[in-house]
Amino acid sequence: MTSLDDALALVRTVPDFPSAGVLFRDLNPLFASAPAFRAVIDEMAAQLPADVTVIAAVEARGFLLGAALAVTTGLSLIPIRKPGKLPAVADRVDYALEYGKATLELPADVLPAGAQVAVVDDVLATGGTVDATCQLVERAGATVSVVSVVLELGALGGRDRLAGRKLHTLQTI
Ligand code: 5GP
Repeated sequence: MTSLDDALALVRTVPDFPSAGVLFRDLNPLFASAPAFRAVIDEMAAQLPADVTVIAAVEARGFLLGAALAVTTGLSLIPIRKPGKLPAVADRVDYALEYGKATLELPADVLPAGAQVAVVDDVLATGGTVDATCQLVERAGATVSVVSVVLELGALGGRDRLAGRKLHTLQTI
């Protein structure tokens, strides 16, 4: 059996991607190892609070984790999408990136008010992406029970953007 530490050791650091000076954490070698992916999903599932009813997964790498987690746990899955992908949009949030801006959208008619939601993504960096997703969830009348990510890039301060929401991370670097 692959331990969680062995699984996380597969994350590769790629310098100067997507731009000069950025150290990108590449999870593809982890996804490509079936036992490593299993170890990560099992740990994320074990850490989910008992009250969670819905997984909200952030496009795109969050989809991989969120879908596997939803099937493993038997919970509902809602994809939080980049603009222009959804045929029916319930709500959208614009947010600032380090350079430029981005938008995320909640699909119409899939998130019940009162749901207890786990927001799932691969990496927490500045926290803008997860914060925008939490806003979509909360504006729909649901509650963010937990934010669950594989890696937290601690120096970028994303944790501070979560405004008291609970954060689970498998590793902080
Ligand atoms: P934030 O909004 O927290 O600054 O950035 C997080 C979003 O950007 C996540 O959706 C994540 O997939 C992506 N991201 C930012 N930095 C990295 C990185 O080093 N590795 C990976 N895999 N994704 C990153």
